[in-house]
Amino acid sequence: MTSLQIEKPLASADHGHLLKGKKIAVFGVANKWSIAWAITQSLSKAGAQIVLTYIDERTEEKVRDLAKTLHHPLILPCDVTQDDQIETVFSKIKHEFGTLDGLIHAIAFARKEELEGHFSSTTREGFRIALDVSAYSLIALARAAAPLMENGGSIVTLTYLGGKRVIPNYNVMGVAKAALECSVKYLAGDLGEKNIRVNAISAGPITTLAARGISGFQQLLKHNADRAPLRRNVDAEEVGDTALYLCSPLSRGVTGEILYVDAGYHIVGM
Ligand code: NAP
Repeated sequence: MTSLQIEKPLASADHGHLLKGKKIAVFGVANKWSIAWAITQSLSKAGAQIVLTYIDERTEEKVRDLAKTLHHPLILPCDVTQDDQIETVFSKIKHEFGTLDGLIHAIAFARKEELEGHFSSTTREGFRIALDVSAYSLIALARAAAPLMENGGSIVTLTYLGGKRVIPNYNVMGVAKAALECSVKYLAGDLGEKNIRVNAISAGPITTLAARGISGFQQLLKHNADRAPLRRNVDAEEVGDTALYLCSPLSRGVTGEILYVDAGYHIVGM
């Protein structure tokens, strides 16, 4: 820690019963470092019953292992590029739970070679994959989840400042995040009449599997900690607790919002 950085205050661990009886599906847990896992823990501590998905057998064991700490979770496979798998997940949730109150979308992917070098080198196929997995999937999941949200609901996705500003090497993922953030607004416009809220958390850089795929990520971490008003980086638990707020009645008047959890980095001009 440099002399400019200050210690992060300890979080108060009381999550109360804000989500007692609520059922929330979380997409995007790959391992214990995943932001989706920190979100799952915050939601679970607040009383939510959790559905976890995993992309394939590569991740299944890790997800099932983590899920042992949860209270009666439902665990299902889902590759979000496959419409039939999305359909199956939500029909199983309907069968097991009847209704759904929340959806967490914490999924992104771009080919490694697209996350380094010149943005102008982005390939047609690289663009298609990044936008399909990282942005279109929110629309597909929201459409499938909405009919189960009979009592209203909350949909939360994860974005990054690279969707608003140029961040070296973030490249096509920045374009995908811009599409994702705009989709949040259109979905909020669409689903508001059903009392379904749609918001995004724009998280500061956090070391995860996906983040390690971005060239120069360590420099990004250092730069953020040096420049952010709070003089530090955020951790996944802080993002988890913000997701808890967005899934709870505390945020009942908030929709179509991009909420920054980045120690304030996004306000800094120089
Ligand atoms: P992560 O743990 O690697 O999570 C990314 C997840 O996306 C993984 O579970 C991955 O599964 C899943 N995924 C990729 N393709 C998929 C597909 N076709 N179907 C289903 N799941 C798929 O990394 P993370 O950093 O927590 O990322 C979560 C979200 O936070 C992403 O949207 C990311 O852009 C966003 N975010 C991250 C940061 C950061 O600094 N870490 C900052 C701001 C926003 P597999 O790994 O099993 O393939």
